[in-house]
Amino acid sequence: MGKKNKPEKLKIPSVKTSIEDRLRKYRNNRVSIFFLFWFVFSVFALSIVLIFGLSQYFITEKAYKSEASHLVRQSGDIVKEKVENGPPEVYGKNFSFYLITLEENYDVNICILDDNGKVKYPLPPADVDINDPEIQKTLDFSKEIVKLKKELKKQGEVATYEGNGEYVYGTTLTIYGTEPVYLYVEKSLELAETAMNKMGVQLTLMSIFAAVLSFAVSSAVSGWLVRPITEMTEKAKLLAQGDFNVDFHGDGKYAEETTELAETLNYARDEISKADRMQKELIANVSHDFKTPLTMIKAYASMIIEISGDVPEKRNKHAQVIVDEADRLTSLVNDVLDISKMTSGIETLKAEKVDLSKSVKEILERFAYLKEMKGYKFEADIDDGLFAVVDELKIGQALYNLIGNAVNYTGEDKTVYVSLKKESETTFRFTVRDTGKGIKPEELGEIWDRYYRSKESHKRPVQGTGLGLSIVKAVLQRHQLPFGADSEVGKGSVFYVVFPIAK
Ligand code: ADP
Repeated sequence: MGKKNKPEKLKIPSVKTSIEDRLRKYRNNRVSIFFLFWFVFSVFALSIVLIFGLSQYFITEKAYKSEASHLVRQSGDIVKEKVENGPPEVYGKNFSFYLITLEENYDVNICILDDNGKVKYPLPPADVDINDPEIQKTLDFSKEIVKLKKELKKQGEVATYEGNGEYVYGTTLTIYGTEPVYLYVEKSLELAETAMNKMGVQLTLMSIFAAVLSFAVSSAVSGWLVRPITEMTEKAKLLAQGDFNVDFHGDGKYAEETTELAETLNYARDEISKADRMQKELIANVSHDFKTPLTMIKAYASMIIEISGDVPEKRNKHAQVIVDEADRLTSLVNDVLDISKMTSGIETLKAEKVDLSKSVKEILERFAYLKEMKGYKFEADIDDGLFAVVDELKIGQALYNLIGNAVNYTGEDKTVYVSLKKESETTFRFTVRDTGKGIKPEELGEIWDRYYRSKESHKRPVQGTGLGLSIVKAVLQRHQLPFGADSEVGKGSVFYVVFPIAK
């Protein structure tokens, strides 16, 4: 028994999964707009808070210190004055009390130190045990005296400097003939510290507030920006699946740029939907147009085989139909090829300086038979000697198609107006006008598209494959020439091309 060969299942990825696959690649290694906003806002807000807060902090601290040093100097000077020149009764028992009064009045600490930094005044109250090591410590200024002596050496008679959490004023004194002692005045910086601590707390609170605020603001702003984009992405996925009814404008108000993006996507949607429709129509029309001549060819060939083969007159007539239909097929194939070559850019233009006045007259000559046989009138207004650098053959075909259409669609008077006129120093314009039914404004944009045909059928004196204007468009676009059509329903249409004058 041989193995059964299971036919392999064909895997066709759906549009949706292939989009998701593509998106997955980017999802993890990209920064989201929300994060970006949050980060930038937070850094911005915090740096502003910090810059302002810290500068405030330092400015205040500096101002306070300079004020404190000023005050300690001032009160120090007064204390020195009062200690040196106090009334005689204060010296002696009452001296400590006198110093304490001064301390209270000037909000400072005052000590009189001996050369070793021992506190001489104010003496501790009588009930305090001087031998208690704690008390001993408060009476020992030996470290401070070293510093004070150093500063006095540097600064002269009086020294002020920042100590450990206080401002110090120091000087030497001689009280009533005693040996020199040191006056040591301290002004505490405690107030500054509490103020600074308060500011620090404030700064922290402000930073937290800024962080919360920037989080809120960035969520709001990025939400407002991102929501439309997310919505558009979802809609674009629907579009990719072939839903041409999506509207990229959302319900809410978008920012200007987002609105423009939505409008551009709507435009893209319209274009894609148009291209999709055109493609379907093209296939339908081309197959239809191929089928008709093929059916005819087959029918007439059968007729020759079965009926007219032996009757030369009939046979020739039938054979002629076959030849004509084959010709139609050929020109259809040629037109399709022309357009695809032109639009894909395979074919290069053979650009040269061409006398278009002469070319247009020659093209009109090719329609001369319609004058004699079908009573058409051509009103031509052609300036002489208008040259442009173009591919003569291709431009000739485009202008021929435009005039041919005017003949096909002109009105009862069977008149076609052709003009070639200088328009400015650098340009001249070709126009062809008919007096026919005209083209509806909504159709004006579509007639240039491959295989567009107005709904109504039309008798044409000039054979067309329905690809005439597509060829015109392809040729003129390749030449980068401005062209277009204006039309008024009931009055007729004007098709024009603008050429740059060749020197
Ligand atoms: P065809 O004329 O063979 O159908 P074309 O590409 O030349 O193909 O034209 C496309 C369509 O544009 C025509 O079917 C017709 O509806 C419209 N059209 C072109 N020229 C004119 C015109 N001069 N007046 C009115 N309609 C026109």
